[in-house]
Amino acid sequence: MFTDLKALVRSIPDYPKPGIIFRDITSLIEDSAGFSESCERLAAAHRGKDITKVAGIEARGFIFGAGVAIALGVGFVPVRKAGKLPGETIGQNYALEYGVDTIEIHADAVDGDDNVLLIDDLIATGGTAIAAVSLLRRTGAKVEHTGFVIDLPDIGGAEKLRAHGVAVEALMT
Ligand code: AMP
Repeated sequence: MFTDLKALVRSIPDYPKPGIIFRDITSLIEDSAGFSESCERLAAAHRGKDITKVAGIEARGFIFGAGVAIALGVGFVPVRKAGKLPGETIGQNYALEYGVDTIEIHADAVDGDDNVLLIDDLIATGGTAIAAVSLLRRTGAKVEHTGFVIDLPDIGGAEKLRAHGVAVEALMT
């Protein structure tokens, strides 16, 4: 596994608004080695940790989370935007730059017997991931491990997440 994953991430300036550099992973997942190695490296970092479920955050966390779940041989739990899941849900609000957003899981998706690995494509402020960890923990599940393809360390989200008692693995900064 020698693929330069960072070289496969495309940076698009001023998207979705001026001043933001969007780190676009579509170019990474369109590359077969880049996609499979990303999932395999995130899985390898969590082998031997008794992970029972992988949770992925909508939408790009579904792509990597599903690959990591298959590689670890466990099930996948979608953490969705509000109103998308058909069964009984529990939800968690979190602050955006302007306003509030809500993520949801099915109430029976995980329970106190689970040890959940949370996956997303990128951590910036950490707000989304911290909300997802809090939501998953409300079921009684253990959530001590998270994995991201990209960490933006200058924004400080990974540090905030670690302060919540969660280990953070990232494939690149
Ligand atoms: P945050 O809650 O601030 O850590 O933001 C993380 C979420 O927003 C992830 O689901 C990312 O997909 C997305 N995101 C935030 N900043 C960027 C960026 N610069 N490039 C691409 N995606 C981003």
